[in-house]
Amino acid sequence: MVTEKSSSASQGVDLLKHPILPIARIVQFLYLALPSTSVDSVLDELTEPVETVSAVYPAPGEILRPYLPILKNFEMLKKAEKVPWIILNEQYEQEDVFEAISLMVGQQIITRELETINSQLCGPCRCDLCCVGPSNEMQQDFFEIPLAADEINLFDLPCIDTAESRNLSALTEPPFSPDNIPFYKNPQALYHWKTGWSIILPKETACPHLDRTSGGCVIYDQRPVTCRRPQIFPYLLEPLPDRNRDENGTVVPAYVARKKILAIWDCPHVQEFKQEIAEYAEMCELEPVFKKNKG
Ligand code: SF4
Ligand code: SF4
Repeated sequence: MVTEKSSSASQGVDLLKHPILPIARIVQFLYLALPSTSVDSVLDELTEPVETVSAVYPAPGEILRPYLPILKNFEMLKKAEKVPWIILNEQYEQEDVFEAISLMVGQQIITRELETINSQLCGPCRCDLCCVGPSNEMQQDFFEIPLAADEINLFDLPCIDTAESRNLSALTEPPFSPDNIPFYKNPQALYHWKTGWSIILPKETACPHLDRTSGGCVIYDQRPVTCRRPQIFPYLLEPLPDRNRDENGTVVPAYVARKKILAIWDCPHVQEFKQEIAEYAEMCELEPVFKKNKG
């Protein structure tokens, strides 16, 4: 019998077996090799099936079409435009333009693709690990869910936004202690840190939107971006805010290349689909890293 869970998970696994990045890289090479002036026209040409070592893509142009806004970054290669990021290799030397664009496109494609895959692997399951604070047996005092500023209104919780909180992060030692009590010992709240907003889940608490009976999220369609992307993460690039550059009032963000896919071992789906995740990373020419996060 095909259950909702097995059907959703098998769709996620099928996507893992047909990653977008290998065919996006073909587009990068074709765009450079052909006289095409737009990536759009390269996609128009890709009507025949493409076969890689381990996957067949029946209509690559069509499969890639939703990613066109990201793929258009390749056009900087012919327009001699300056790339709007600083991309360094692991020796902290500047990457060349081809590699810099390739990495940024890869990071953006995999971010988008994994959002779908993670939802399909996790969506119908009854696991709530991402939505609860640490249990009393765990070493951690709290879990943090980063939020965008426009996501804090999703939560009817007190907002702690002081000059002191905005100068610290949740991981600063000694911890932020309003009224001389470490923040994570206070009731659940939203905090504005120097790294941005987050909801703090203290020990033995749960996100207010978790339905403990069903294990589901009651604001599933509106849930924050962070909640859409666990527990397989793109890690081609790591932000390096200390190396950001100010160019005439515009911040040029800096990154260091990591070329990895990070999967959190605590997640039951990561354990169940370890082999498929490792193969997905290898097909994308990235190193799979499995890491335990909680405990
Ligand atoms: S908003 Fe929803 S998905 Fe996010 S932590 Fe809360 S219950 Fe979980
Ligand atoms: S740990 Fe994995 S299966 Fe559990 S809620 Fe998070 S993403 Fe879903």
